[in-house]
Amino acid sequence: MKNAYLTIDDSPSEKMGDLIDLLQECGIPAVFFCIGQNLERYPQFAIRAIREGFVLGNHSWSHPHFSKLSIEQAFTEIQRTDELLDALYQEAGVARPMKCFRFPYGDKGDGRKGHIFKALKPKGALRSQIIQTLLRGLGYTQPTWEGVRYNYYQQNLGKDVDWHWTYDVMEWSVMQRRPSLGVRALPQVLERMDSAVPPDLRGDVEESSIWLQSPSDEIILVHDHKETAHLMPAILNALQGKELVFQAFQ
Ligand SMILES: [Zn+2]
Repeated sequence: MKNAYLTIDDSPSEKMGDLIDLLQECGIPAVFFCIGQNLERYPQFAIRAIREGFVLGNHSWSHPHFSKLSIEQAFTEIQRTDELLDALYQEAGVARPMKCFRFPYGDKGDGRKGHIFKALKPKGALRSQIIQTLLRGLGYTQPTWEGVRYNYYQQNLGKDVDWHWTYDVMEWSVMQRRPSLGVRALPQVLERMDSAVPPDLRGDVEESSIWLQSPSDEIILVHDHKETAHLMPAILNALQGKELVFQAFQ
């Protein structure tokens, strides 16, 4: 058995209430990385999640590619959502337990647009440092993830304060006009959990190993999208059938 941490991006959707119900039935803790615009639209789901013990994180205001923003725009995206999260925690009557941030598309604003294995140019590195400094200044942190053993995470992503992921469930792909990596529907999402290392993010895990059976803990990424909400019971059920223990964040 190994530890898994469930992170849910793009919340709140109009289906967030169902997702909270489902997580509670399954007994799975989670962080919801929220988009500011969506929080404005569905504050009631955010407040309920806070009161029921879930963690709400910052996923920017309007979900842009940070590599395409000016530094000023990047600051606004982060700060505006940070302030709204503060207000929602206050309204819920709960102290904000931690500040966590995830970049839309994993795009750290460094010009690589989320392709984290591409070479980083000096200008991009500088932009990334400036944005990381802003996040640190606002109190954002990332856990040390001691059980996450992927080299690319510990030696690279883990040094920043934003949260990346180690396993993308890729359920988002089924609603794309051109699905990625052949993930067209639920069967491919589930098959992928038992496949050898899928050819997207891995770097350092041996090709022959089955991803979810590697010796590393996993930071798992799914999304709170109304279009894929109906897939979540099967996805969470399948994950619970693996050798994973879902851990809380606080
Ligand atoms: Zn997102």
